[in-house]
Amino acid sequence: MSDKLERIKTLIIGSGPAGYTAAIYAARADLKPVMYTGLEPGGQLTTTTEVDNFPGYADGVDGPKMMMDLQKQAERFGTEVRIGMITEVDFSDKTGGIHKACVDNSTWIEAESIIISTGATARYLGLPSEQRLRGGGVSACAVCDGFFYKGQDVAIVGGGDTAAEEATYLANICNKVTMLVRGDQMRASKAMQHRVTSTKNIDLRYNTEVDEVIGEQVVEGLRMLNKETGEKEQIEITGLFIAIGHKPNTDIFKEKLTMDDTGYIITEGKSTKTNVPGVFASGDVQDKIYRQAVTAAGTGCMAALDAERYLAVVESEEGEEVKTTKKVEA
Ligand code: NDP
Repeated sequence: MSDKLERIKTLIIGSGPAGYTAAIYAARADLKPVMYTGLEPGGQLTTTTEVDNFPGYADGVDGPKMMMDLQKQAERFGTEVRIGMITEVDFSDKTGGIHKACVDNSTWIEAESIIISTGATARYLGLPSEQRLRGGGVSACAVCDGFFYKGQDVAIVGGGDTAAEEATYLANICNKVTMLVRGDQMRASKAMQHRVTSTKNIDLRYNTEVDEVIGEQVVEGLRMLNKETGEKEQIEITGLFIAIGHKPNTDIFKEKLTMDDTGYIITEGKSTKTNVPGVFASGDVQDKIYRQAVTAAGTGCMAALDAERYLAVVESEEGEEVKTTKKVEA
C-alpha cells in the first residue's frame, strides 16, 4: 500500500436498489458517497425485463431503466459512481477507525464508513437450454415474474423454503404448478411442506430433475427425468422457476465480518450494523428471506442513516479529544 491513499467519507460497494438508495440518502446527508458498481452495474434487476411491483411505477418499468433512474437520482445529489470492483478489504482497525478497500486488485482507498450492498446471486441448474431461455420464461424469482404466467401451467425446481413458498405463491396465480424435487424429500420446514402438499394444483414430483427445457425463443415445455425409474416425461409449460438457492456475494468479507453458515452478513438487531464499527450491510447480502427490490431499497436507506449517525458520533468524539488535548497542552 502506498503512503498517500484517497480518503472517502462513505464508500458504497454495489449498485443494486440497496446501494443506490443508500447513495441517495448518504449524498443528501453530505456523506459524500463514492459508489463502486461491481461487475454488473445495476445489479440483479438489470437482468429483469419488467418490474411491476416497485412502488411509484404505476405502469411498471423495465429493470435496466429503473436502475438508470436510481443512478441519476443518486448522482443528482452528488454521489460519485465509479465502475470497478472492490476486490479486497482491510477492516483490521476495529476501534471505529479508518477501513481500507482495494479497487480492481490494484489501488487501495480509505473510507471512514462503508456500506456493503453487494447482493446475492441466484443459483441456476446450468443446463444449456435453461441458460438460453433465461428471460424467455426461465426465471429465478416467482414473486417478480409469476404474474406474467397468470392462468398458465408452470414448473418450479427446488425443495427448500424458497421453492415451497414460491410454489404456493404461483399456485394462487397459475393454473397448475409442477414442482420438481431432486431427492426423495423436501428440505423445506414441515409447515411449508404441508402448505405445498395441501395445495391442490401443485403436482409434486420427488426424485425428479430437469432433463431439458423445451423452446427456442420462449419456454414451451419441460422434459423431466425420474431418477428412480429412469423414465422421461414431457409436459407443456410456459414458465420455469428455478428456486435452488442464492449465493450471497460475500467472498471478500469472509473472516472479516460475522456471517451465518450460508455466508449472509449478520446485522445487529433492527439495524444494518455489522460487527465492525463503521461497516454496514444492506440489501440481499444480509437478507435471505424477503429479497425484494423494495426491501433492499429500504435497508439501503437504513444503512445510510446508520452511517450518518455513526460518523456524527465519531466526529463529535474527535472534537472532544482535540479540546481535551488543547486543555492539557495549555
Ligand atoms: P436451500 O438451500 O434451503 O434449498 C435449496 C433447494 O434446492 C434444496 O431442496 C436442494 O435440494 C435444491 N437444489 C439445490 N441444487 C439443486 C439442483 N442442482 N437441482 C435441483 N435441486 C437443487 O435454499 P432456499 O433458497 O430454499 O433457502 C435458503 C435459506 O433461506 C434457508 O435457510 C431457508 O430456510 C431460508 N428461507 C426462509 C424463508 C422463510 O422463513 N419464510 C423463505 C425462504 C427461504 P437438496 O435438498 O437435495 O440439496
